[in-house]
Amino acid sequence: MTRSRIFGVLVGSALLVSAIARADGLAAPNTTTGAAKPASGPTITGIRSWPSPTGTRITIDFSSVVAHVAPDSGNARTVLVTVPESVSLGPGVPEVLRVGDGLVDSVLVITSGEGARFMVWFRDSSRFRVFDVAPRQDRPFGLVIDVTRPGAAVAEGRRLEGIASEKKKDRIRVVAVDAGHGGEDAGARAPRSVGVVEKTVTLAVAKALVDELNKIPGVKGVLTRSGDYFIPLHDRYHMAEKMKADLFVSIHANSTRKRGSGNGTEVYFLSMRGADAQADKDLADAENAADLVGGVPPQTENELVNILYDVKRSSALQQSQLLAETVLDHVAADRRLESRGVKQAGFVVLKSVEFPSILVETAFINNVAEARLLKNKAFQASMAKQIAEGVKEYFRRAGISLSGDSGTSTNQIGG
Ligand SMILES: [Zn+2]
Repeated sequence: MTRSRIFGVLVGSALLVSAIARADGLAAPNTTTGAAKPASGPTITGIRSWPSPTGTRITIDFSSVVAHVAPDSGNARTVLVTVPESVSLGPGVPEVLRVGDGLVDSVLVITSGEGARFMVWFRDSSRFRVFDVAPRQDRPFGLVIDVTRPGAAVAEGRRLEGIASEKKKDRIRVVAVDAGHGGEDAGARAPRSVGVVEKTVTLAVAKALVDELNKIPGVKGVLTRSGDYFIPLHDRYHMAEKMKADLFVSIHANSTRKRGSGNGTEVYFLSMRGADAQADKDLADAENAADLVGGVPPQTENELVNILYDVKRSSALQQSQLLAETVLDHVAADRRLESRGVKQAGFVVLKSVEFPSILVETAFINNVAEARLLKNKAFQASMAKQIAEGVKEYFRRAGISLSGDSGTSTNQIGG
C-alpha cells in the first residue's frame, strides 16, 4: 500500500502519525493534539493555507529561527521539509492541516525530540517552491511552501488578455482596482475594540468600487485580488498591464505609529525622488514592506530604463496627479473625513508607466472612530461610490471619451 493510500484511509489518526514517523526513522511523536510542551526550543506557532486562483500557499510559523532542510523547488506529489532540531507544537496548532482545495490535500506535522518533519501532500504532481519570509513582530521565523495550480498561469494570462480584447472590441475603459495586502500580510490593524484588519477593509471597498464602476456606461472595473491571499506588489500592476487597464486604483487604510492618532483621507501618486515629508516616507515604507510580510520568493527584477520609458513616465505621472485630485475632491465630499490632500511617495505598486495610478489611503484604521467607519458596510459603499464618481470626473477632465457619452470628447480609445 502506498503512503498516499494509507493517508487516504487513516488521515489524521495518531496511528498514521506514528506509522509515518517510524517509517521515516523518527521516534513516535507526542500525539496529544495541540498540547504545549515545556518551552525548551523553537515552537511551531501556526500553520495555515491560503488558496488563490493560481495556487495555494502553506505557511508555517516558528517562535524563533530554525535551520531547515527542503528542496528549493521541484515538481512532485509530496514535499518534505525537515527541521533537524527539537521543535514543539504550540497550543492549538494541528498535527494535520486538512486543506482539500483540489491542489493541496493536507500537511502532516511530525514532531519528536530529534526534530520535526512537515509532509505536504498534493492531489497530483505539482510545481512547488520553499522559501522563508522576513520576521515580523508576531512571527520571528516563517517558512512558505508555494504550490502552483497546474495550468493556472496560462488560464490567468488568458483571462487578462480576454479583458484586453473585450476592451478593444466594446470600446470600454478598464479600471484595475487593487485591494491592498491579503493573506499573511494583514496590513494595519484597528484597535482591539473594533477588531478589523486593513486587508479585509481594502477588499470590501475594492469590491464595492468595482460594482460602482460597472454602473458607469463604458467603464469596467476589474479586481487584482478577489479573495484573502497575497499578491506581490509588482504582480499587481503587471496584471493591470496585461488587461490593458486605463487606470490603476489601489485601496489602503492608513495608520500611524502613535496609538489612535491620525485622521482623514489622502490620495497618493508616485514620486520618483522619494517623499518630501518623513511621515509620507514612513507610510510608503510600511506599504512597500508588504512583499516582505506577505512573502515573495527571491528573484531579480530588471527595470527597463530608456528615453521612451521616461516620456511615458512623465505623461503617466501628470495624469496620475489629475486622477488623484479628482478622486480626493469627491471623497472629501464626505464630511466625516478630513481631506489631507494629494501627496507623492515612492509606492512600488504605483510604478507602471502604462497608465495613471493612484493609491487611496481611505482613512486611519488605528483611530477608533475611523476604524468603525471602515468596518461599516454603508461607509464602504459610500466611499466606493465617491471614488467611482472621481474616476468618472477624471475621464471627463482628461477629455477621454466613454462609450456611453454623447460624443463631445477629444481623445480616441487606444489599444
Ligand atoms: Zn496598506
